[in-house]
Amino acid sequence: MSDAMTDTAQGPAISITGLRKTFGDSVVLDGIDLTIQAGERIVIIGPSGTGKSTLLRCLNFLDAPDAGLVRIGDLEVDAARASKAEILALRRRTAFVFQNYALFANKTAAENIMEALITVQKQPRDTARARALEILAETGLAEKANAYPASLSGGQQQRVGIGRAMALGAELMLFDEPTSALDPEWVGEVLALMHKVAEERQTMLIVTHEMQFAREIADRVVFMEGGRIVEQGPPTQIFDAPQDPRTRAFLRRVG
Ligand code: ADP
Ligand code: MG
Repeated sequence: MSDAMTDTAQGPAISITGLRKTFGDSVVLDGIDLTIQAGERIVIIGPSGTGKSTLLRCLNFLDAPDAGLVRIGDLEVDAARASKAEILALRRRTAFVFQNYALFANKTAAENIMEALITVQKQPRDTARARALEILAETGLAEKANAYPASLSGGQQQRVGIGRAMALGAELMLFDEPTSALDPEWVGEVLALMHKVAEERQTMLIVTHEMQFAREIADRVVFMEGGRIVEQGPPTQIFDAPQDPRTRAFLRRVG
């Protein structure tokens, strides 16, 4: 925590201000304000259809927000007038882990990790491959470097998905329900890898329904409902002494 405090000399590492997103007539993000310190782990919980995925996707313009500011480090992007170059720059500072892994089926585990290093970061192929092998070793998949996704278990595929995000060295890692597509037997190894990422003081924004995991990994838990942040605080506060009736009702349902 003390490191994070020093980083606040120029404000938080990441800030989101007044973020809004509508799909047709429905307001999906209704003015989200959130600041994140360097190295902080934030878990977002809330009912389905409440805008959690949309929030993550708006942070790197997978969905383009209608309005609001997204600032990561010294890069500030005004959603209403974001240029292509700004969007690309924002994408370079974030790494996304998808619920359904989103691996390239026709690429090996190593090639999946190399892809963005080569195309986005313009690394030479040899450098990218060395980095991919290093990451696969870290994720416990060294022997799967040349395996195609179809021959991997769901847990292994998601570990490649997380490895791909780790390799980018991004300032912010975004996880959208990374275990919810997995058979129960593979959930543990994926959560264990996320704990390992967290130990490296990676800044993480995680949407999950794994409440025990949230309690363990989160510095702060954010409860969202209806496109708004209803309540946030340390896990003990949110899970053991929620203040808002909507948070209480949600936790009763999932608990
Ligand atoms: P959550 O992740 O909390 O379950 P989402 O962010 O996926 O919620 O969705 C929030 C709302 O936005 C839902 O009502 C959903 O149907 C709607 N929505 C999400 N993406 C789109 C889209 N591309 N087009 C239209 N509606 C969408
Ligand atoms: Mg979602």
